[in-house]
Amino acid sequence: MQARARTLGRERLRVIAIIALASLPLVLIETAIIGQQAQAGRESIAAGRLALVRSAAGAADGFVAGNLATLHALTQTRSIRGADVATVNTTLRPIIQNDPNWLTIGLSAADGWNLSSLTTAAHSVNIADRDYFQAAIGGKDGVGSVLVTRGTLNAKTIVLAVPVAFDNGTKGVLSGALALANIEKQLNDVVPGSAIDLRVIDRLGHQFIGPGSAADTLPDQNALPEVRQGLAGVSNTITSSDPAGRESLIAFAPAPLAGWVIVLSEPTTSAFALPDGLTRTAVLVTLIGILAALGIGWYLGGRVARSYADLEQSRTETETERFRLYEGLRHAPARVGMLLGPDLRFAIVSPAQLAQMGLTEKDVIGKRFADIDPEPGHRAVLEQVYRTGDPHIARESQTKVRLSTGATVDGYFNSTIVATRNASGAIDGVIYFAADVTDLVLGRKRVEELAAAVAGERDELLGRPFTGDFEAAPSGYVPRRPDGRPYEIRDFPINRALAGESVRGEEMLLHNPLRNEDLNILVSAAPVRRDGEIVAGVSVFQDITQLRAFERQRTEFFSMASHEIRTPVTAILLQLDLALRQISRGDSSNTEEMLRKARQRTKALAALINDLLDMSRLDVGKFALDLSDFDLATVARSAAEDYPTDENHPIRIIWSGGSLPIRGDGRRLVEVLENLLSNAVKYSPQGGAVTVEIGRERDNAVIRVRDEGLGVPEAERGQIFERFFRTSVAKPYGGVGLGLYISKEIVNRMGGDIVLESSGEKGSVFRVSLPLQPVAVPSPK
Ligand code: ADP
Repeated sequence: MQARARTLGRERLRVIAIIALASLPLVLIETAIIGQQAQAGRESIAAGRLALVRSAAGAADGFVAGNLATLHALTQTRSIRGADVATVNTTLRPIIQNDPNWLTIGLSAADGWNLSSLTTAAHSVNIADRDYFQAAIGGKDGVGSVLVTRGTLNAKTIVLAVPVAFDNGTKGVLSGALALANIEKQLNDVVPGSAIDLRVIDRLGHQFIGPGSAADTLPDQNALPEVRQGLAGVSNTITSSDPAGRESLIAFAPAPLAGWVIVLSEPTTSAFALPDGLTRTAVLVTLIGILAALGIGWYLGGRVARSYADLEQSRTETETERFRLYEGLRHAPARVGMLLGPDLRFAIVSPAQLAQMGLTEKDVIGKRFADIDPEPGHRAVLEQVYRTGDPHIARESQTKVRLSTGATVDGYFNSTIVATRNASGAIDGVIYFAADVTDLVLGRKRVEELAAAVAGERDELLGRPFTGDFEAAPSGYVPRRPDGRPYEIRDFPINRALAGESVRGEEMLLHNPLRNEDLNILVSAAPVRRDGEIVAGVSVFQDITQLRAFERQRTEFFSMASHEIRTPVTAILLQLDLALRQISRGDSSNTEEMLRKARQRTKALAALINDLLDMSRLDVGKFALDLSDFDLATVARSAAEDYPTDENHPIRIIWSGGSLPIRGDGRRLVEVLENLLSNAVKYSPQGGAVTVEIGRERDNAVIRVRDEGLGVPEAERGQIFERFFRTSVAKPYGGVGLGLYISKEIVNRMGGDIVLESSGEKGSVFRVSLPLQPVAVPSPK
């Protein structure tokens, strides 16, 4: 608020200063003009007064000259020239009677004696100034002002005197007194108005027309400068102040013939009323104008300042926001636009979108959305937001994008559309913001494809079907340490690598709780450095589940094999010890039985050792067959017949007759058959017949060995030919899980195959098939 008041004051002063500065030269010019005009007005008025007073002086002189002429004319008359007293009056009386100017006319002798009867006695005339008479005696016209007092007459007069030359050679004077009323009237007629004082002052300084004429005394009017100058023959105008301080305009002019100074005086206030009035008005008007200008300046300054302040304030509050919004919208790295009005006309559109469409702002601003984007779906969404005011938010929505080339492509956008509202809260437009996430989405899809492909490949490698979906798989596997403890996030190899550690071949268990299986993973991780700074981490996962399983099997095998070997060796030693002891005692009743058992055990041991040897030969690729052509039927029958079975497991041979010529290793084939018979007996602990079927099927010689024993659990059937594999139900019975493995190798190498044909609670059927030789071999009947 304080800042606002300060701004207000400052702006006011600024505007007033501007107005004052602007009007200063105007005021100066106007003052000069007014002064000049006033001066000129005064001068012209003074000049007017001067002309007036000069004409008054002229009139006075004219009056005197005219009456002197009358007197001169009379001096030429006979009665005057002849000084004929008897007739002088007859000459003079009509003049006095008919000319109101003359109060009296008289003829005097040179000695001053009146000759005419019309003259008063010389003594009765109060001659204040008699030099006019002397002048006339001297031959010149004489003029003087005189106060005439006769009877009731008591008047100031002007006396004229002219010389007279009488016929008898003497001199005289014809003189007369003129009434002043006439001349006073004439002079007053010259003076306009009532404000001007007319004064007539004679050469003695006596004022005998004007306000002071009544005074009988002779005022020292010569002291007045206008009188002094006037008597010196100068006419002029002056201004002078009286003792009371009142200033007057005085115009004066001499009337030389009359010997007067005519003075016109009036107060300057009335003389210069017009120019002074105009000047005052002009000054007043100027002052009012300036004051008005300053007042307007004060008001406007306030208005301007308030506007500034408001502007500034609104700019900081609203405009700045709008500006920022506008700029933000314009420079957003996305398709951004603002559409106003029910027909959704573009008010703002981001350069990003313009560039994509190959348009300029001019092509778009003010145009309807529908004219720019023909896609009806886009418009429908915008119109819905405009209608309902509900924002529209879409993630990765697929849409057609029109490019500047005119082509349309698929794009993915994260878009938000919101309604804008005016001050009264009504919806007046929409703003849309659509970030192009096409690259992101396509990139992710590609990664998903890759991941799926990799997952598929991995599953192929691991021999397991991939059942979970991509999203679920990583979180479904819970990494644990080999001892089963869970990992802390920071102990995770990649996180340790990111912290700078090199993790070399650390084993982890990946447990999938959904399938309840564990994978053995060997993880190595290392930091990736750029300029010494860790910018990434690399970790390599190696599935070693099979390796670990194999190691486990091998460990199991060794413990089993050592058991399988130690047990018969111990038994053999025991039997042999017993036999030796009996022989030394000379008792040989059980010796043979003991030796027989020892021999049986030794045979089993030898078979086991042979199996182990065969396995290692197979491992190093040195398992060679001794091939020859022979009749399988013969070999198989004699092997089955010779097999040392017991009474619980009678061996039945079914042979449809006919030879089965094949090429192979006969001795090895007997091993295969003996192994199958041995398993049939071993895994029929309850006893049961063992059937050997010998025959041909199409181009193959086929031997089936059927028992009535335990059978192979269905889930394990696929594995029984793997080495060391033993079914879960076979564990109580001796064996190392090598027989079927070696048998399969042998038969495969002869071009045939061995399979578990069927198995169940009623026993198992193993089938050996070998390709028949095209040429029949004669059977040894
Ligand atoms: P071994 O008999 O020494 O364990 P083999 O390789 O001969 O090893 O057999 C592998 C496994 O196959 C046996 O452990 C047993 O579980 C199963 N098997 C083989 N023959 C039979 C059979 N006739 N009946 C049931 N199970 C059998």
